[in-house]
Amino acid sequence: MIRYYPEKIVILNEEKVTNSIVTANILKSVEGRAVPVSYMSEEAIDGLIAETKKNETAYFEGKKTLLITVNRGEFLKKCPGTNEYICCDYYIIDFAQNCPMECTYCILQAYLNNPFMVVYANTDDLFAELESRLSGVAEKKYRIGTGEFTDSLALEHLTQYSKILMDYFADKPNLIVEFKSKTDYIDTFTRYGAPPAGNILISYSMNARNVNLREELKTATIEERLTAAAECVKAGYKITLHFDPIIDYENFDTEMAATIELIFKYLEPSDIVYISLGAFRFIPALADIIAARFPKSRIIYDEFIKGYDKKSRYFRFKREKLFRTVIGLIRRYDPDKKIELYFCMESPEMWNALLPDAPASDEELGGTLYDKCGKCIKTKCG
Ligand code: SF4
Repeated sequence: MIRYYPEKIVILNEEKVTNSIVTANILKSVEGRAVPVSYMSEEAIDGLIAETKKNETAYFEGKKTLLITVNRGEFLKKCPGTNEYICCDYYIIDFAQNCPMECTYCILQAYLNNPFMVVYANTDDLFAELESRLSGVAEKKYRIGTGEFTDSLALEHLTQYSKILMDYFADKPNLIVEFKSKTDYIDTFTRYGAPPAGNILISYSMNARNVNLREELKTATIEERLTAAAECVKAGYKITLHFDPIIDYENFDTEMAATIELIFKYLEPSDIVYISLGAFRFIPALADIIAARFPKSRIIYDEFIKGYDKKSRYFRFKREKLFRTVIGLIRRYDPDKKIELYFCMESPEMWNALLPDAPASDEELGGTLYDKCGKCIKTKCG
């Protein structure tokens, strides 16, 4: 896939940013590319953001600017999930916001109010916060990801952020860290080799072949992602996969079968710790954005109900049918059920219909996944 390079870099003129390893990494990565770099005050940056937002194509244009700044809020956040459905007790490190890829269904389009690609460079604050919130919590089972407000690896070739995080987590085996991506980026992991504590998971989004080609623009193809996953396995990493959003799409059965066949061409069941399944859902504001930005996409023109969380989602019978197909295809290649399967934001009824035993709580599901990670770290999965 084609890697993102900014057309312009804006750096907050504060020592925490200008002296940061993240800033140094980014500037080194664009050497020889004649990318203009400006150092600006916070007020000037706010003005620039406001000016860019006036542009009708702000969301697209804004991505051409990479803003290196500080996160003045919390880095570690609980995944918002929803009270009405079962979630997986996941935490997020908010290290960057926005994404250079263009998935039609991406929630960030409705969520972010800054159109620039943003990276938070104040890593001393990040690690001070992690120390104060996570040290001495060996009994608490944390699974932490970085791919919530961005793609974990979309800017890795510029920032080396995952490498910085891996160094920090290298002696913290009780904290499981997941880098989730739609790229085929691997250099950090192949260079680093096997993570000493084994607590690093590389995670890839999966989808039906035609959804990948038509709705996930500027991303790596499924085959490219799986080639990358196989390289990561060779380097000593465990893999997780996420089928989310599963979309009721043309030739669903055959296109999904093609993807799942590819997964097991590149990976053994014992390479994969778990696979999550989530059906397409969206807030009303996102539907308007998708209609305006991607007029060729048909994904919002279907029958939906309003879920308990106020998001539009497919009727239960349709979700169940989609999930049943995906689970059946996965188990065809994994008859011994080595891979843990779970739903993202589904009801206990759906669990009881398709997977054994609905977890009694988010913590129970989080604990099951954490324990599965622990077992896989020590041995082959299964
Ligand atoms: S890769 Fe993820 S973050 Fe990036 S556009 Fe697609 S859904 Fe959004």
